Amino acid sequence: MSGTGASVIIIGAGATGLSAGWWLARDGVDVLAIDRGIVGWEASGRNGGGCTHPFSPLFAEEQRLWPMMDELLGYPTEFRPQRIRVAFDAGQFARSAQAARDAARQGFASEVLDIAELRRLAPLVGDGVHGAHLHRFGGHANPHRTVQAYAWAMQDHGGQVMQHTAVTGFTGSGGRVSGVHTDRGTFGCDHLVLAAGPQTRRLAALLGIDLPMAAARAEMIVTEPLPLMPLGGVDGNGLYGRQTLRGNLAYGGGPHEWIDPNGIGATPPPSTPLMRQIAGRLARLLPRAAHARVIRSWAGIVENTPDGRPVIDRFGNVTIATMSSIGFGLSPASGHAIRDLVQEGACGFADLSSLRLSRFERLEPDWISRQGWQPPSGAGTSGQAGSAGRMLS
Ligand SMILES: Cc1cc2nc3c(=O)[nH]c(=O)nc-3n(C[C@H](O)[C@H](O)[C@H](O)COP(=O)(O)OP(=O)(O)OC[C@H]3O[C@@H](n4cnc5c(N)ncnc54)[C@H](O)[C@@H]3O)c2cc1C
Repeated sequence: MSGTGASVIIIGAGATGLSAGWWLARDGVDVLAIDRGIVGWEASGRNGGGCTHPFSPLFAEEQRLWPMMDELLGYPTEFRPQRIRVAFDAGQFARSAQAARDAARQGFASEVLDIAELRRLAPLVGDGVHGAHLHRFGGHANPHRTVQAYAWAMQDHGGQVMQHTAVTGFTGSGGRVSGVHTDRGTFGCDHLVLAAGPQTRRLAALLGIDLPMAAARAEMIVTEPLPLMPLGGVDGNGLYGRQTLRGNLAYGGGPHEWIDPNGIGATPPPSTPLMRQIAGRLARLLPRAAHARVIRSWAGIVENTPDGRPVIDRFGNVTIATMSSIGFGLSPASGHAIRDLVQEGACGFADLSSLRLSRFERLEPDWISRQGWQPPSGAGTSGQAGSAGRMLS
């Protein structure tokens, strides 16, 4: 690419865009990631850190890569393997067993824990447990460390990251994008990657691509540090999260508040009702931590497609990736897939046909209200908990 720009421009310096940028830079590609804020400021730096998605076609690659990421990136992600899923009723246990079966089909083991073994691995668990699985796959990592590691590693390979630069539009002809307009000038490119989280829909629309997505607020709370459990990845009771290496419990989950992503800034404030709800669920999941004080909380915006699965697809010289609320854990694999789409035109290690945009061709125009995903009145400013949606995983 000659002049100002790069061979590949990526919009969005979250986990998806930065992982793709790192994979491309490792190949020697001249790549530039542009973000309107700073690295990982949105969902990628605000999530639960879970890396356990057995229902995804990217699962095998997610599991292959995470244990190697510190070494591959050259910076720590704080990845810790394995996951315990605690169930408080038969329905929760059945869902956890389904995840175990999905993973078993792909060669990953799980086991049912007896109460003594559960207490040994997760001493903060209390009574009233219906059952629990130990998934000998998956795990969790530190989102902040991970996004920063991607950015540094991408730069180590010659890639560039441009922060505080908002993309406003595109130029191109014959179905190809050749220029990216920003509030700091126009940058030329041979290939464009759209990985702008909840804003991907709006940017894709500027290219004439209809990407069905709805945005929702999700929140996390963090407790003061507690003694480290032998296994820090304990999910259940509608919660996802982890114990940090310092001992804090960092958890999220509960009803989504559906929002208009254009009506709220990139840093939505947390809301007290959701925080209370998460704290209540956490006290049931880990009763021996019920006395711990909540010392931090924040909100983030998750991007959701109608079926809860990512869209990773290529249209001419544009590759689109929106991860539908599971993009942190999948990021090592989604970046690899984006690299393959950009460089080879197809993913070389997984069948991504179930992630194509064309699966939504027959979607009803009013699909958001049919799903019950309407923002509450006054969305974007109220901070109230809205209609209940599915949990993150
Ligand atoms: C509270 C919470 C908990 C979660 N828990 C988990 C979990 O445990 N496991 C998991 O796998 N996932 C989880 N997720 C979901 C996960 O965080 C997201 O799916 C993932 O981070 C998406 O990454 P991304 O890079 O695609 O998008 P984002 O992180 O949203 O990044 C998009 C970037 O694009 C930039 N951008 C937007 N518009 C423009 C523009 N016009 N110009 C330039 N830049 C622009 C933004 O500034 C942003 O930095 C959670 C999310 C939240 C909020």
